[in-house]
Amino acid sequence: MSDILVQLGEKGEAAVLNLTRESLNKAIAKSGKDALISFPETNYYFPLISALLDIEVKTLGDLSLAFKEIESLSKGIAAKTGLVIPYLGGILNKGVATLLGEEILAGLSVMNKEHPKSGIGFIPDKILRSLGLQLVDGRIAGIAVILGPAKDADAAVELIRDFQSKSIVSLLAGNISGNTLQKQLESKGIEAGLDNYIVPLGEDYLSVIYAVNFAVRAPLIYGGFKPGQWEGIADYIRNRVPAFVLLLGQVDEVIVATGLGALAFGLPIITDLEVPQLGKIDTTLFEALVTEKDYKKLPSKCILTRGIKVKMAEVAIPLPYAAAFEGERVRKEQLYIEFGGKASTAFEFLAAKNENEVEDGKIELIGPDIDQLPLGEESMPLAIVVDVFGRKMQKDFEPILERQVHRFVNYAMGIMHMGQRDMIWVRISKDAFNKGFRLKHLGIALHAMLHQEYSAIVDKIGVKIYTNLADVEKLLSGAKKTFDERDERLMGMTDESVDTYYSCLLCQSFAPNHVCIITPERLGLCGAYSWLDGKASYEIMPTGPNQPVKKGEILDSRLGQGENVNNFVKEKSNKTIDKVSMYSMMDGPQSSCGCFECILAIIPEVNGVMIVNRDYSGMTPSGMSFTTLAGSVGGGVQTPGFLGVGKLYLLSKKFIAAEGGLKRLVWMPKELKELLGDRLIARAKEIGEPDLIDKIADETVATTSAELLKQLEQVGHPVLKMEPLM
Ligand code: SF4
Repeated sequence: MSDILVQLGEKGEAAVLNLTRESLNKAIAKSGKDALISFPETNYYFPLISALLDIEVKTLGDLSLAFKEIESLSKGIAAKTGLVIPYLGGILNKGVATLLGEEILAGLSVMNKEHPKSGIGFIPDKILRSLGLQLVDGRIAGIAVILGPAKDADAAVELIRDFQSKSIVSLLAGNISGNTLQKQLESKGIEAGLDNYIVPLGEDYLSVIYAVNFAVRAPLIYGGFKPGQWEGIADYIRNRVPAFVLLLGQVDEVIVATGLGALAFGLPIITDLEVPQLGKIDTTLFEALVTEKDYKKLPSKCILTRGIKVKMAEVAIPLPYAAAFEGERVRKEQLYIEFGGKASTAFEFLAAKNENEVEDGKIELIGPDIDQLPLGEESMPLAIVVDVFGRKMQKDFEPILERQVHRFVNYAMGIMHMGQRDMIWVRISKDAFNKGFRLKHLGIALHAMLHQEYSAIVDKIGVKIYTNLADVEKLLSGAKKTFDERDERLMGMTDESVDTYYSCLLCQSFAPNHVCIITPERLGLCGAYSWLDGKASYEIMPTGPNQPVKKGEILDSRLGQGENVNNFVKEKSNKTIDKVSMYSMMDGPQSSCGCFECILAIIPEVNGVMIVNRDYSGMTPSGMSFTTLAGSVGGGVQTPGFLGVGKLYLLSKKFIAAEGGLKRLVWMPKELKELLGDRLIARAKEIGEPDLIDKIADETVATTSAELLKQLEQVGHPVLKMEPLM
């Protein structure tokens, strides 16, 4: 490494550690060593300090202990966990010490309410978990940590649009004279947001630490690593977290020291600045530090340097097209035309046809196009009817393919799609219209993407788009009958009616020992994969993450344990799980990877079970919030008494059947109750407990086990008469 980088790095590290020492001493003098300190909504304390030094920071005194270790590391002396990085003459230790010091400074800034001033600041665990799933299933290809603004606003837009089109999430930090990348984007009408893959962390350079303590939680949540296992943690980030640093516009000694920390975790640095170049080092997969001044080439240089594999869709429409545009909204002021919602009748429908009924690539518009809209009108009726033929196509796959219309329409920049079936709401922006987008492009996108992702089951695709109200209404009544038939068929499907379950190993890229077994009556814990999805996915990719698992001999029908399933899980969990029960959360429950929509937890004081969903941030009667519970349940291990589940599992007849089923449920957030609404009430009636849902407590009546017991006694919850759980 060049002498100049070493010197700058040493100076930068000294500056950060001096500031950390001063700030910490000041905070202790003001509030005392026992003053509490934490980042919001995390179960990982100060994640970097916890991961590398195995210190659970709860007070300023804990930070003092951590700082002593950081000072030793700075001198090249190994921390108690053995943390010391020998490469490049030990200079990377200074980088890691800088990051650790910066985490303390950021924590103090949160304590002093100086962070976040703008941007998201510290990234809560629940965001990490939702991003984790998208990384697993390939919707996110990489993470760009961008420091500083681009050379101008146009370059900023081009850069971010390029990253979005390649499904790369941008985390933004830093400013030059108050100018930030976010401001540059805003000046061009581009909104930041997680759904748009643009996440501002904060305007100062210190905020970059939130990207680091975000990345360091992935091995703890998904990799099964314990705090202090720093070598495994660093290795996991290097190999499984596809992140890189893009440094724009300026550099100083603190940025160099921080950059050395990034290199210690294998995150390469790409910059538009003239700096000494650094080829591959021991910790990086490829080059460590490279310059690219041409903004047009910057994104591909970043991707190449980090070794990210980008899969881009080839869709012949006049708009940028990628998963990163899925979350973009089209607001009223941007609206050219809308369909469905409260504006008009609209629906979408996909059906399997015979070979001679489908002409591949034929896109028909029956009715006026959007450029024939009468003056002053902003809506039209719409029917999107997709006919498919495939030798391996099955009736069961129709709803799965139909559900993809949402994604494939949304991927077009400037087009918004919400809902499904006859509850869709589609908006087209003025910008998209002005770029030449017309209704036939909906068909072109669907044709291209269905071929791209489902070519194993679909050979021919034709799309008809109707915009005359009479046509739309006529077709809708036929479609509704099919929707009802599909629902009935799905509801009638039971675990007993099939001889094969499906596995899902998608999350193993993050949680190497985790195995989901998906049955007709129990969907994957992320809520995204049903048994039919697993089946379709296997047909599409026979060697993919969803494999058939023959039920074979049933060992225990109450628990839902079978020999074949046990053997499969044992093998695929790297021999860490011997047996798994499909219907029990107490005896051999499934493992949980971290992507779960909800967590079930026993509350021994009331002999019952509660459920909490990811969006509920308050306290639960288990004494833990969702985030805290998630910290103990994830990582691909079995945790009897706790279970990650998809929320629709609550409606299943097999819902914790071994523990007595729905009658065991004593508490759930109000929002979740409302979300499941009539379906949950219907399920309660089915089990002969028509008032059960009213008897299940929520946060408005109980957030402690004592309050809960009182409430259950008051309403006469059936759990009070059930046999003991333990
Ligand atoms: S079904 Fe299970 S393994 Fe598959 S993506 Fe969902 S949580 Fe992960």
